[in-house]
Amino acid sequence: MASTNKLITIFTNKCPRCGEGDFFISKSAYTRNFDKMHKRCAVCNENFVPEPGFYQGALYVSYALNVAFMLVYFLIFVNFFDDYLNYFLVSIIPLMILLTPWFYRLARRAWLAIFTKPQETSGKGYRS
Ligand SMILES: [Zn+2]
Repeated sequence: MASTNKLITIFTNKCPRCGEGDFFISKSAYTRNFDKMHKRCAVCNENFVPEPGFYQGALYVSYALNVAFMLVYFLIFVNFFDDYLNYFLVSIIPLMILLTPWFYRLARRAWLAIFTKPQETSGKGYRS
């Protein structure tokens, strides 16, 4: 059985409810239709578009992810490559452009996962 751990489903492009159905149609963030999503989960029929404009909130998640990434990247540069700090400025812009589709997809999956309850398991083995 697939994992319903939300963090795992967010990073593996899976439905946040059942952990089995694909969220985006394309497996890769670097294809032409990287932003095309399934309307519903093929396995559990979870609605991936609960209401119009639902994914506007994912913008804030995307922003937070981008800022967090830049902070970590900056701290790595300051701690390990302090003599080459100019390279941080030169490298961060193309890096952020390259990572935009990946963060876009990550933010959408995270936003839906916030509002989705994982599927109930059978409970076998937990109670006698
Ligand atoms: Zn599902």
